[in-house]
Amino acid sequence: MRALRFDNAFLRELPGDPESGPRVRQVHGALWSRVDPTPVAAPRLIAYSAEMAAALGFDEDDLASPDFAAVFGGNALQPGMQPYAANYGGHQFGHWAGQLGDGRAISLGEAVAADGARWELQLKGAGPTPYSRSADGRAVLRSSIREFLCSEAMHHLGVPTTRALSLVASGEQVERDMFYDGHPRPEPGAIVCRAAPSFLRFGHFELPFSRGDAALLKQLADFTLRRDFPHLAARGIGAGSDESRYGDWFAEVCERTAAMVAHWMRVGFVHGVMNTDNMSILGLTIDYGPYGWIDDYDPDWTPNTTDAHGRRYRFGWQPRIAHWNLMRLAQALSPLFGSTEPLQAGLDRFAAAYTAADRDNTARKLGLAECRDEDVELIRDLHRLLHEAEVDMTIFFRRLARLEPAAPSLDPLDEAFYDPSKRDAAAAAFQDWLRRYAARLGEDALDSARRRTRMDAANPCYVPRNYLAQQAIDRAEAGDEAGIAEWLEVMRRPYEEQPGREAFARKRPDWARTRAGCSMLSCSS
Ligand code: AMP
Ligand code: MG
Repeated sequence: MRALRFDNAFLRELPGDPESGPRVRQVHGALWSRVDPTPVAAPRLIAYSAEMAAALGFDEDDLASPDFAAVFGGNALQPGMQPYAANYGGHQFGHWAGQLGDGRAISLGEAVAADGARWELQLKGAGPTPYSRSADGRAVLRSSIREFLCSEAMHHLGVPTTRALSLVASGEQVERDMFYDGHPRPEPGAIVCRAAPSFLRFGHFELPFSRGDAALLKQLADFTLRRDFPHLAARGIGAGSDESRYGDWFAEVCERTAAMVAHWMRVGFVHGVMNTDNMSILGLTIDYGPYGWIDDYDPDWTPNTTDAHGRRYRFGWQPRIAHWNLMRLAQALSPLFGSTEPLQAGLDRFAAAYTAADRDNTARKLGLAECRDEDVELIRDLHRLLHEAEVDMTIFFRRLARLEPAAPSLDPLDEAFYDPSKRDAAAAAFQDWLRRYAARLGEDALDSARRRTRMDAANPCYVPRNYLAQQAIDRAEAGDEAGIAEWLEVMRRPYEEQPGREAFARKRPDWARTRAGCSMLSCSS
């Protein structure tokens, strides 16, 4: 297999733990600990992302080689790889949780691709690290399939995200108590190789702050600017103070986070665990666990069973939770600033950037040339109707582009309703709304072909629905892994109707309404 080139800046430029190996411990004054993946019984490549393989320069022969499964299953290292687990903290469900760190993720190093792009490669489920606490450092096949598929699908949907190179079966069993009800069962284990320019999280900055280690905090901030925000680092040399550079950086993190969450709301993605250790400093969707996709539009939907009570991470609260998380980041960065003003300015930027992105989404999803103040009300009313009448978000918006403004009718949208009686009860209100919408379209200069193209580029035909993931998982657990590659193939072009693949665009079937994995998910993965 071809050798990758590595440039492990994070290890080279930042302080590490003098002890290596997986002994569980508190690690002070250091941002990483050297630890090797624990070999598995029989690594076997189940699926890969063609785009990520190409980005790293792997060809068919590389992918077919047993070395590939060995390296990306954690059984072998290439020259230049220096495996480590990162040290970070975080606020979990609103409370400071202290040191967390990579408990089951081990970074292999920072690969530099032929085009100069930097890809940190990280094995999720590669065995224990100093940050594993009482857990085993492993991941089950079901959660690995979900992360592999969804992160690649998100990329193709145009949502900023970490990527996935490979999905490798470990050939070992992992014990999990899926519903924390005292019934653990052995499940097949797997390892995903994730890739991102950086896996730095808000929690990386929070931990040194919580320990009063301002020197480490500054070292990390300067490193992040240099490596991950070079446009800001360069601008600062000679011109402006450190503080104004940090201020620009924080504002950019706020903007990127706003853009990311606006995309989530556009496509109907619910992250499920928006703890600050799961927030990327690059504004990438990171850590796919008990996430979910909206079927019937419901701003209160909360896929994560651990969150069933408070519903902190419900679909509709994601923008405000992102803001709350940014406030925690602002607090962590405060020692870098003489006053809170630049941090407040960054937080204000979040609000402005989110509002602008949300309005842009409204215009694109409804096929309007621009979003006016009255259009915000138009979409709010639509959201209320979709919720009340239990309407599939993805199908409704996709079909809305087929509306004939001269004779607006609910018929082409029938397919989007889950409950015929709720449809009938809401039909008049929908007719009303469609008439308003058709009148609004008439005020726009966009002709119907251009409107439809604009809408089809914002309203996906295919999203990785929860029940489809569960079907691929059921098949794989029964020995038929072909469903994973098939589905990924569909998700590579989510905005294009693909004849013969209608099954991937259907609304959630009745059997999936209350089934585990389809409507509710646990963290246990
Ligand atoms: P998460 O909610 O998945 O972001 O995980 C929160 C923390 O628990 C992180 O520090 C993870 O690394 C750690 N963690 C989750 N699952 C495991 C596991 N199976 N083994 C070790 N650490 C884990
Ligand atoms: Mg996490």
